Amino acid sequence: MKLVRFGPIGQEKPGLLDRDGVVRDLSGQINDIDSSTLDAQTLARIAALDLDRLPIAPEGQRLGPCVARPGKFVCIGLNYHDHSKETGMPVPTEPVVFMKATSSISGPHDDVRMVRGSTKSDWEVELGVVIGKPVKYITPDEALDCVAGYCLINDLSEREWQLERGGNWSKGKSADSYGPIGPWLVTPDEVNDPQALDLWLDLNGKRMQQGNTSDMVFPVRELIAYLSQCMSLDVGDVVATGTPAGVGLGHKPPLFLSDQDELRLGITGLGEQRYRMIADNS
Ligand code: ZN
Repeated sequence: MKLVRFGPIGQEKPGLLDRDGVVRDLSGQINDIDSSTLDAQTLARIAALDLDRLPIAPEGQRLGPCVARPGKFVCIGLNYHDHSKETGMPVPTEPVVFMKATSSISGPHDDVRMVRGSTKSDWEVELGVVIGKPVKYITPDEALDCVAGYCLINDLSEREWQLERGGNWSKGKSADSYGPIGPWLVTPDEVNDPQALDLWLDLNGKRMQQGNTSDMVFPVRELIAYLSQCMSLDVGDVVATGTPAGVGLGHKPPLFLSDQDELRLGITGLGEQRYRMIADNS
């Protein structure tokens, strides 16, 4: 299934794509796509619905982030061999974990409002994993059973706030709209192998990132198991699993985002995001 949320910001309704790619309205069935509905039982109930009987969502609706109000937005840094290399940092021997504020989450086609005065905003196409079962202290063999679905994430950063202003990375990762999620939350039955997905990102029509999840240092099953040793994971939590090479920081000289730049990115089977950067000149 490809689950979506559609409608104006803050008023999104749950939906899913039917076999023709038309959005069907799920609001008569569930309240939202969130921690109260991403458990296996509810997903099985939705999968059993006769889609032809569900109302069609009005055309041209904005898509919101495909998960509402996650309790946590956990990110993994330096998790691709080629990206570690371009940053000049050693390949980690344990996952690099940081948190992104949940208030950074935005829709897959919403403008990205740059941090006030930003000159070092940067992109990172990433595979997102959404948790479907409360877990703690699980093994890698158990990890994929707790996944509700996969999605596309852009882990946008403000590199000055991330790397030059002291303290930890979260400051440069958490600005409003620096966490577009979606367009779809794709259930695992439609993702054969999370370690065999192509990821790509274009800036103003030029390819910047082109990678494959097979290059991850720690695969999804190990990341989820690892995280569950140091924190509980709950239904609806989102984990961004790192980015391949080709970020602006890795260019020589570095290349960062400007007002009106257009980003377009995608992952095999998980859809595409497309939006503009908007400078805050206030
Ligand atoms: Zn990242």
